[in-house]
Amino acid sequence: MRVFCASIATETNTFSPLRTDFSDFEESFYAAPGDHPETPTLCSGIFPSLRKRARRGEISLAEGTATWAEPGGLVNKDTWQRLRDEVLGQLRASLPVDAVVLGLHGAMIADGCIDCEGELIEAVREIVGMRTRIGVTFDPHSHLSDKRVQNADVITVFKEFPHTDFTETAEACVDLTLRATRGEIDPVISVFDVRMMEVLPTSRPPMRGFVDKIIDMEQSGDALSISTIHGFMAGDSPDLGAKMLVITDNDKPTGDRLAENLGLELFSFRGTTRPEFLTPKIALETAERQVTGPVVIADVWDNPGGGVAGDSTILLREALSLGLTDFAFGTIWDPMAVRICHAAGEGAQLNLRFGGKTSAMAGDPIDGKVTVIKTQKNAVQSFGTSVVPLGDCAVVQIDGIDVVLNTNRAQAFSPDLFTNLDIDISGKKALVVKSTNHFHGAFEPIASQILYCAVEGPYPSDPSRNKYKNLSRPIWPIVDNPHAKEVA
Ligand SMILES: [Zn+2]
Repeated sequence: MRVFCASIATETNTFSPLRTDFSDFEESFYAAPGDHPETPTLCSGIFPSLRKRARRGEISLAEGTATWAEPGGLVNKDTWQRLRDEVLGQLRASLPVDAVVLGLHGAMIADGCIDCEGELIEAVREIVGMRTRIGVTFDPHSHLSDKRVQNADVITVFKEFPHTDFTETAEACVDLTLRATRGEIDPVISVFDVRMMEVLPTSRPPMRGFVDKIIDMEQSGDALSISTIHGFMAGDSPDLGAKMLVITDNDKPTGDRLAENLGLELFSFRGTTRPEFLTPKIALETAERQVTGPVVIADVWDNPGGGVAGDSTILLREALSLGLTDFAFGTIWDPMAVRICHAAGEGAQLNLRFGGKTSAMAGDPIDGKVTVIKTQKNAVQSFGTSVVPLGDCAVVQIDGIDVVLNTNRAQAFSPDLFTNLDIDISGKKALVVKSTNHFHGAFEPIASQILYCAVEGPYPSDPSRNKYKNLSRPIWPIVDNPHAKEVA
């Protein structure tokens, strides 16, 4: 059995002041055919999974490109067409193939292409024909279009947010796609449109119980696979919002019923899934009072993982004005300031302007006298077994607060973001990180307390206020009950 695989992934915030081009993919992760590392990255987990089967002699594997860009703004037309044509060319050169497995994110929007993944899967289908099986993995923060469902045989989606299960999701996709190729199963996809845009962390109820229930249902054989698309509120897509996806072994009526029942249960969670979001002042003062080890404060909306710049200074300015010390902030994106700090050298004191440069929504730059505590070329942090590049970094101290400045935009995944730069986190009162929930898994063991802080501004965090141009379906919270007819 001959299998082709490839991975193109990014998450496009169409409201972001940033733009995404090929160098952003190169900077985050780009592996030419054969160059994919043994460790999986978030969306390319299918590569190690397929290689394992190739080594066992089950399949012969033709690898295409694997690439990922840190979430950002609209992808430019040339970059999308280059990546699409690169992978389609590799596929054509690998024919004939019995199966194609794609590791996609699912929220990529390019200038002139509202549904990049739909266009890619449709083009793959045209090349390979109807008999070849196509399996796809998605991130739940994506837009599930009909075009994707019509052209794929198998779709699996990370169940966990934080996405700690990307390896399991890839394994499930590969397993089902290969079983379908061998004729052991005949996967049929059912989708229910939940018509809801909500933040759905699975590290807490009610989503924790919902995911556990879905896993139990899969294990007891109710369906081949069950997935939840959460949606991505910063992407202006016609398919914005949550959808429930069930794959059965050629039993569409059962799949449809299951998808609807689970979808309406998910809809009933609206408004109850988020942790409490504090104001900056309350979050910072709560941390200041803590005496037993670092409080972790998430700056939930200035999360580069959601496509914003990650250079907001609003929380830092508040901490400085409150006179707080022994806090550490990581990271603030400012390549220009990093360059100046590297030129100044460790131990240097200088007047530095940093942060707040990319948009009018993220606070003004900080101006102050800083001490350069640490400079580091090509710094990294970990995310599970993945290694995430932070680019060249500098740690500066300003009025008793340590700030990590970076050159590769990256959300905070792990405390080694600080410790790799010699910051002693056990001696800090608080670590302030830019992340919505991915930080949770690795920071929880070292945190005396975790606080979520909502700073309005950089991110389009309220779907009912965002100016979507491409959305025509009714979804909550823009309308109160988008299922009015169904439940009447
Ligand atoms: Zn995600």
